[in-house]
Order: sequence, then C-alpha cells, then structure tokens
Amino acid sequence: MSSKTLKIGILEGDDIGHEVVPAAVEVAKAAARRHNLSIDWRPMPIGRRALDTHGSTLPDGTLETLSTLDGWILGPIGHRAYPRGPGAINPHPILRKHFNLFANVRPTRSYPDIGCLHDGVDLIIVRENNEGFQPDRNVVAGSGEFRPTEDVTISVRVITRAGSYRVAKAALELARHRRKHLTFVHKDTVFKLGCGMFVEECRRAAKEYPDVLVDDVIVDTFAMRLVRDPQSFDVVVTTNMFGDILSDEAAGLVGGLGMAPGLCIGEGNIAMAQATHGSAPDIAGKGIANPYAMIESTRMLFDWLGRDRNVPEAVAAAASMERATTRALMDPASRTTDIRGHGRTEDMTRAIIQGIEEET
Ligand code: ATP
Ligand code: MG
Repeated sequence: MSSKTLKIGILEGDDIGHEVVPAAVEVAKAAARRHNLSIDWRPMPIGRRALDTHGSTLPDGTLETLSTLDGWILGPIGHRAYPRGPGAINPHPILRKHFNLFANVRPTRSYPDIGCLHDGVDLIIVRENNEGFQPDRNVVAGSGEFRPTEDVTISVRVITRAGSYRVAKAALELARHRRKHLTFVHKDTVFKLGCGMFVEECRRAAKEYPDVLVDDVIVDTFAMRLVRDPQSFDVVVTTNMFGDILSDEAAGLVGGLGMAPGLCIGEGNIAMAQATHGSAPDIAGKGIANPYAMIESTRMLFDWLGRDRNVPEAVAAAASMERATTRALMDPASRTTDIRGHGRTEDMTRAIIQGIEEET
C-alpha cells in the first residue's frame, strides 16, 4: 500500500450538485476501497447553502482549506438564481483564477445504444479557462464589458502569449499520450491580433512536440466538421468562449450534457473535477440527473493525481471506475432516462459501485 494519502475536497454546489456529487463520491470511495487507495475526504461549504450558513457562496475558510488539498470535486453552481447581495458571488471564475487552473480538459466519448449521433467518437477539447471575454471584470482589471453610451456595449477579449502557450502545452502533453494529433481552433481570419497570437503561440509550443501532428481549423468550419466527422479529431485546443460552445456541441453528439465530464488543471499541481453541465434546476430533487459526467470527472481527477503524485493505487482505482461505468452504461435498467435508460441517479450509481466491487 502506498504511504501517500490524497486529500480531496468535496464541494457539492447547487441543485443537481447535491445528487451527482454524492454519487461520484460514493463511486470513488468504492474504487478507493477496492484498490487500497487512502483518501482524506474534506466536505466544504460552497454555493447557495454556504450563503445561508456563512454569508458567502465562497467562504474564506473554503478557499484556505482548498489550498492545502491535492484536488477537489466541484459540483455545478446555480449562480443565476442567487439573491443579489455582497456574499452572492459566482465561485467558478474565482476558483479557476485563484488556483491558476488555466486548462479545462473536456473529453467526448461515444458509447453504444445511448443515443449518440456517431460511433467511435473519442476526442478531447481543451478550453482555455482564464482569459477570453471576462464578465468578472474585478478579477482581471480592464476586461469585461462596458457601455460607453446607453446604446453601445463593448466586450473585451483578453488573449496573452503566455496564456496561449501554456494551454497549448497542456493540450500537446495530452495529445502525446493519445493518438498524437492536436488541432488548434481559432478565427484568425477575423481576429487577426487575438486569434493570430493564440495560433502563433500554439505553433511555437508545438515545435517542442515533433512527435505530435498539428493542424488548425477555423472555428465555424470546426463546428460543422464536429457534427459530420467527429472521429477525425483527437485533441483540440481553443480559446475560452469557442471552447465553451464547442464542448457543449460535442456533448450533444454523445447523449447530452449528462455525458460531458471535465477536469481543470494548471501549473500548480492541483486539479479540480468539474462536469461541463450546469446545476439543471429543472430536474433537481427528482433523482433523475445523470451522474456520469460527475463520476467521470472524478475518475479523471484520480487518474491525473495518481500519475502526477506517483500513486499507482489512484491510477488503478480510476481504471476500475472506467470499466464499471462502461458496463453500467450498457444496461438500460441502470442508465438514466436522458441516455435511453429507465434508471434513476441511484440505480446508475449502484450499478457502477457493484461493478467495481465484483471485479476480479
Ligand atoms: P450553465 O450556465 O451553468 O452552463 P446551462 O444553462 O447551460 O447552465 P445546464 O444546467 O447545464 O444549463 O443544463 C441544461 C439542461 O440540460 C438542464 O436543464 C437539464 O435538463 C439538462 N442536464 C444538464 N445536466 C444534466 C445531467 N447531469 N443529467 C441530465 N440532464 C442534464
Ligand atoms: Mg452551459
């Protein structure tokens, strides 16, 4: 048994976060037990409940504790429904910037019989996480939106050389361990300075990875090719808003937002598991949310921490989660209704846990 104990935070978030995060934690606990992986779990307040109990959606204590951890699981945040007031901030951009989590790794994978539009999809969109159009203008001075007159709004997009280079490098690292193909997605035909700089830095980073084949595609063409021929992509890297939109499009190819996991990584050696979907207030409390995205995000966290910290038990636990999840997705009785099943959140969670426990 490894002597290393991983310290992992649990931040449920809002709405379906109270359903899918506990599901992911139960699955992770089963995998950890199965592989003698030692984890110190740290539940922490965030979001609407934290506002009620601590007067802030991101209490100071939460931020302080997070900096002592190896990583954490963050549920979706329903910030649009927060009452207006000083403590009611959207924690997401604060967390990403505070911990310098500049790369949002969003995989898309097809599974049989769940309503995917294509078979054989296996791609990753790496979305730049901390630049681009910044609605949170307090975090990066001078960015965001402003209104010089009542009838004109100007939105500013920030692109930096350093930010572009580092996200390209993170994507190249991923590509190197997959099918060695990286596509840069941009619109340098129009945004000659911003997208132009992004592509220049992607090309510069790619020189250090001669084993990775690189190409670039204009964002509108990419949106079309993603629908018609998603199998032609391996790893894709793009700027913040393009990545946000394209990763939802990619999720739509393989069963919807319940199938869209994500991991936020940066230079500091911490990582944050965060599904692509929002808090889905329309289905909250009904027990029907698809836990796949959150479970798979947690699996990615285990795999990443296992490799980064040299904890083979975490890598093994992640592999076991992946096998059990794939098996559970094959059974309509355990799959949730959004992916052509008739199971509830708990049925899918239980099936995955059972799969992990029964593995020989
Ligand atoms: P955000 O601005 O936070 O990204 P959003 O407006 O994009 O939020 P989501 O909350 O992501 O909206 O969800 C859109 C819809 O997709 C939901 O209303 C819900 O019906 C569906 N959905 C999202 N996540 C899941 C899930 N895990 N399981 C099943 N359905 C989901
Ligand atoms: Mg969304």
